[in-house]
Amino acid sequence: MTPILELKDIDYSYHTLDGETKALSGISFSLTKGEFAAVVGPSGCGKSTLLSLIDGLMKAERGELLMNGEPLTENSSKIGYMLQHDHLFEWRTVYRNVLLGAEISRQITPEIKKRAEEMLEQYGLKQFSRSKPSELSGGMRQRAALIRTLLMEPELLLLDEPFSALDYQTRLTVSDDIGQIIRKSGKTALLVTHDLSEAVSLADRVIVLTKRPATVARIVPITFDLAHDTPLVRRNAPEFKTYFNEIWKELNSDEPIADETL
Ligand code: ADP
Repeated sequence: MTPILELKDIDYSYHTLDGETKALSGISFSLTKGEFAAVVGPSGCGKSTLLSLIDGLMKAERGELLMNGEPLTENSSKIGYMLQHDHLFEWRTVYRNVLLGAEISRQITPEIKKRAEEMLEQYGLKQFSRSKPSELSGGMRQRAALIRTLLMEPELLLLDEPFSALDYQTRLTVSDDIGQIIRKSGKTALLVTHDLSEAVSLADRVIVLTKRPATVARIVPITFDLAHDTPLVRRNAPEFKTYFNEIWKELNSDEPIADETL
């Protein structure tokens, strides 16, 4: 089966007046349909650069980026985003925020409005359709942002540190909630995070990057033997700590394992 996303030997360098900074070197990996992968790596290693390339905002200086076997083009409508900030407009109702992507791309049809209403109902926001975003909790706001993204039926979801603006407690419940919605939607997702626990609790595979210039240090398949496999349940499973430590070691090969970060 052709992977949804394929990166082959990607290099990228920034050129400034001070010289050249190589950010990515020989990055290769692929995502199959329905897979949830996470990218982790030290701060400043090149994670955002990687997303900008997949997003089509920047061009790789070497290598190939393919979506469904075709070269990726700028602003592919097949890509949806979830970012650190939900970017809901305060002056619009939740319903009109959810329809924003469709409005911008001039795809407002009776069918898409109906789908928006159905999704708001499915994800427990129907009663807040006419509310302003300020009346929602942080978790509900992220749900609304996700509905807005899913409404456009993207084939690939890029999640860029989507929970890092939330406090720790909220982050656990919101990532559990959003993770389960994405799973149920069957979407292929690529999460970029500096939070190893988040990566292990959400992903099927964790792609571990080295320090800059980022190379793929390892790709760790994550499997939990759980009847009810959700991000929160994973956090309490015995395999969780094993995976966490394995990836932590990979990232900090010269530092001791810090159990207190669990
Ligand atoms: P991460 O998202 O992993 O924190 P980035 O992809 O933002 O890392 O950046 C990778 C490296 O590329 C950084 O160490 C930084 O020095 C460099 N870099 C990022 N953006 C620019 C830029 N616009 N100009 C020059 N160098 C940059």
